[in-house]
Amino acid sequence: MSSVRTRFAPSPTGFLHVGGLRTALYNYLFAKKENGSFILRIEDTDRSRKVEGAMENLIDTLHWAGVEFDEGPGKEGNFGPYIQSQRLSLYQRYAHQLVEEGKAYYCFCTPERLEEIRRKQIAAKISASYDRHCRAFTKEEAEKRRKTGEPFVIRMKVPLEGELTFTDIIRGDVTIAYKILDDQVILKSDGYPTYHLAVVVDDHLMKISHVIRGEEWLPSTPKHVLLYKYFGWEIPQFAHLPLLLNPDKSKLSKRQGDVAVEDYRLKGYLREALVNFVAFLGWNPGDEREIFSLEELIREFSLERVGKSGAVFNTEKLDWMNFEHLRRKPDAEVLCMVKEKLMLSEFNTTHFSDAYLLSVISAMRERVTFVKDFIEKSPYFFRAPLHYDADTVKKRWQKDSPSYLKKLAEEFSVLESPTKESYETALHRAAESLHIKNSDLIHPLRLAVSGMGAGPGLYDIIVILGKDETVRRMNSAIEKVPAIAGFQQ
Ligand code: GLU
Repeated sequence: MSSVRTRFAPSPTGFLHVGGLRTALYNYLFAKKENGSFILRIEDTDRSRKVEGAMENLIDTLHWAGVEFDEGPGKEGNFGPYIQSQRLSLYQRYAHQLVEEGKAYYCFCTPERLEEIRRKQIAAKISASYDRHCRAFTKEEAEKRRKTGEPFVIRMKVPLEGELTFTDIIRGDVTIAYKILDDQVILKSDGYPTYHLAVVVDDHLMKISHVIRGEEWLPSTPKHVLLYKYFGWEIPQFAHLPLLLNPDKSKLSKRQGDVAVEDYRLKGYLREALVNFVAFLGWNPGDEREIFSLEELIREFSLERVGKSGAVFNTEKLDWMNFEHLRRKPDAEVLCMVKEKLMLSEFNTTHFSDAYLLSVISAMRERVTFVKDFIEKSPYFFRAPLHYDADTVKKRWQKDSPSYLKKLAEEFSVLESPTKESYETALHRAAESLHIKNSDLIHPLRLAVSGMGAGPGLYDIIVILGKDETVRRMNSAIEKVPAIAGFQQ
């Protein structure tokens, strides 16, 4: 096959799952690395599971993640339509062709009969499969029944003996005995194809060179390979990605945390971090590096470096990646994001200048994991403390702190355009004249200006707040904290 063409083929049944994002991403990375095309195909042939708006949501989420498809719904290429429910006549034609060629057959069994066989098989403790009742009809018999309008499905005729081998890029050769395969329905009585037929017909017609999908589809692959053989079509290369696991090694499920990409997006994870994290669920570059941009991932990705064993979904690592990606972002980009968050926050304001916000960003950069942390971890940059952290008051506020702070406020007040250094010198001077340690001033001062016991450099905070605001906050603390600390004034 000449050019690489990959596809992501979700069923529109709800939000995009992180596992779905991983499949889409690996298909995208591989196609881009090989200068190929990445196709989005919507597999909506199971009408009972279809959810209104799910396709639009899927497309929007992929777009948010930067995983852009080259062909798909709304981006018609030469192989459309890209929504399976718009391709029904194709599947019907191919299903009937197989019947014609004796590789599939009409099955007239009623749901009641099928249920009856299933019940008996369960009772006899044998795995449930179709008993091939209708396979015995002659072509003429079957044709006659069909023409009378009797409802039918089309089933593929699986050889009764022998075995089938196919190669998976990640798992190597996979061999299965035909006898464990069911005579799978390929066309349902309503004229809709099943997944198995539709996926093979479309992957062939859309010239898909590599089928990269989750491990849960591995058991279906022999049926697909058999269909390729029946049609006489070239078999694409397969790569089945390892399962995603919860930290306790069970299959990733909603019960143990969020699984929809949407949830992570709403929680404020950066797309770069989520994509980087998802890329590492089964793949690694073979060395210590862990932080990658999408472009770097394209350059480095290879299917050969995808492992077989389940990949653990560890949100602590995701948080760390978010922190790292946020740290690496240019100031201007962080500024835009902080402004947006501020608008939506309790401060709901635009009155802080860019210069002011940039200084807050630079003070807080090493301390934030999410953009919202710029605001939530340091609200004191946006308003005077509303309360003072009780623990810090208990540990750091002394009976004499008000008089010490008063002296310090006097020292600060006379400073002209103070810098970090001049504040620091003023504090040392005050401590010396009061015969106390610098720390007897530093801790109450931090509490006064921020209401908290920890944060970025104290002098950084007060330079950002400015002298007047700092002194105002010191006076307010002198007034309010003694009562909180339990000291009489
Ligand atoms: N429609 C299947 C799904 O929902 C696609 C499986 C495949 O990629 O072949 O995941």
